[in-house]
Amino acid sequence: MFFFIKKSEDGLWMKCASCNDITYRKQLVANSYVCAKCGNYFRIGSKEYINLIADEGSFTEYFSEIKPADPLKFYDVKKYAKKLKEARKKTGNNDAFICGLCSINGVAAALGALNFAFMGGSMGSVVGEKISLLAEKAAGEKLPLIIVSASGGARMQEGILSLMQMAKTSGALAKLAEAKLPFISVLTNPTTGGVSASFAFLGDIIMSEPKALIGFAGPRVIEQTIRQKLPEGFQRAEFLLEKGQIDMIVERAELKKKISELLEFLKGGKS
Ligand SMILES: [Zn+2]
Repeated sequence: MFFFIKKSEDGLWMKCASCNDITYRKQLVANSYVCAKCGNYFRIGSKEYINLIADEGSFTEYFSEIKPADPLKFYDVKKYAKKLKEARKKTGNNDAFICGLCSINGVAAALGALNFAFMGGSMGSVVGEKISLLAEKAAGEKLPLIIVSASGGARMQEGILSLMQMAKTSGALAKLAEAKLPFISVLTNPTTGGVSASFAFLGDIIMSEPKALIGFAGPRVIEQTIRQKLPEGFQRAEFLLEKGQIDMIVERAELKKKISELLEFLKGGKS
């Protein structure tokens, strides 16, 4: 199971919601936000992933000034504008994707991460725009691209504009591929909907954290549609690896090492 690090847990001690063990916060951070007792992965945001992967002090953020609009004046139980305001206050970010340039064990790279705490990491116009700009920047500066995904999919509050981001991000990644630069996609729990159906599965290498939920539609919808019971572990990283849909499962503590090994390999430095 996966749990948010809640604001109220920002103190010195943190409780694992899976085994109830209480850990010193610094210890948990040193252990890559994985419970040392039971192995539970705490859910973390963009900044934590960037800190885990980028060399210390090497990350320069780009495109942070881009803010979402509300062209449809959408509301369901709440106005979209109000939800955005709350998400901004909660995360301190303008939208659900943080990106920039950094080095990873000395290799220069473009790096971005979705933040599930911002409206479920959903992809609206801003997320799509930033991913596309980052891919274009990587292509322009001849850098590899790494994106960490954690998302429920397209942002329904932006309707068709959200769905268009699937094509837009895919197009930007095609340019990166034309420039023969690698894209490593890192899937975390959960990566579903329009995100899994676009850029997240376009990686030259697709890796996932253990036990992450990865899929397009939810299992209940699929069961109702095909009128069959789904197999055990369906839509988990291990199942997808077995079926050849992802390339590897990487422990969170090993992400940086694995990514930098692959970058070295892909640029022809090592066998
Ligand atoms: Zn635990």
